[in-house]
Amino acid sequence: MSHRLAIVVPCYNEEAVLRITASELSGILNRMVDEQLIDRDSYVLMVNDGSKDGTWQVIEDLHRSNPLLYKGIDLAHNRGHQNALLAGLMEVINHCDAAISIDADLQDDPLAMIEMVKRWHEGAEIVYGVRSSRETDTWFKRTTAHAFYSFQRSMGVDTVYDHADYRLMSQRALILLSEYREVNLFLRGIVPQIGLTTAIVEYKRGVRAAGESKYPLSKMLSFSIDGITSFSARPMRLIFLTGFTFLLITLLVAVYVFVAYLTGRTIAGWSSLMLSVWFLGSLILMGIGIVGEYIGKIFLEVKARPRYTIRQRLTED
Ligand code: UDP
Ligand code: MG
Repeated sequence: MSHRLAIVVPCYNEEAVLRITASELSGILNRMVDEQLIDRDSYVLMVNDGSKDGTWQVIEDLHRSNPLLYKGIDLAHNRGHQNALLAGLMEVINHCDAAISIDADLQDDPLAMIEMVKRWHEGAEIVYGVRSSRETDTWFKRTTAHAFYSFQRSMGVDTVYDHADYRLMSQRALILLSEYREVNLFLRGIVPQIGLTTAIVEYKRGVRAAGESKYPLSKMLSFSIDGITSFSARPMRLIFLTGFTFLLITLLVAVYVFVAYLTGRTIAGWSSLMLSVWFLGSLILMGIGIVGEYIGKIFLEVKARPRYTIRQRLTED
């Protein structure tokens, strides 16, 4: 069995760090080749995500210096980390036996790749890199990230805690991934749904080797909202539940209004107005929620996700 590995690196305005990253990654590839973990024709594929700086020139230089080791693709526009990553993974799908995705800034310890590849040899088809500590992230990033994971969980999105997009996927896992055709891409939610044998490798997250984070708070927020809305229709169900709760409260309010009316502690028009406001309010919310249920169904249909994944077949005659 061959073990050709592709390392896929999405790059957006990373000229400051890309050379360091490339030589680091090639060092690790060499080491794994020496230890006979991977084949000699393993390589690094850099995806230029419409950078505004000299990132693509760096990739071209690297490719010229060693065409077999360094490969690249250049996206016409900035499509965001997730799309750039997917473009890279789909590019290597027929040219590797497994691919590891890693950020360009080396915040995710590249040495963990060695463990990932070992887990792959042991039979895992998806190996998640999980941060064992976030000491080097700022307090703010850490807290917001954890709040984001818990919120997603509560909204019914199944993700791996403290796992970013540093992971190994076998070719089979990549092929299954390619069957998810949705445009609103949230890989961290999709990959767990593929459901092959998985493993986890822990590593310490470092600081950026150079350059600045491309994920300011505003992008993180829209990323987290994307993560929820492209996976779950639960927020819409919440509307219905709120409406229903209000309907129950309406009953209590009705008793209160009735008692107030009977004991004469009201002014003219108050009782009917109170009842109408509560009753109609809850009906409207429930109505929106019901419409939401149908929109939720439409949403899942248009995604046209694969309905099942066959893990193994024992069907020979
Ligand atoms: N990235 C990308 N397109 C974008 C933004 C980021 O390809 O629009 C890449 C970036 O080059 C890096 C990775 O995504 O390799 C993660 O970005 P970054 O390190 O800035 O995020 P952070 O680690 O701060 O969350
Ligand atoms: Mg980073």
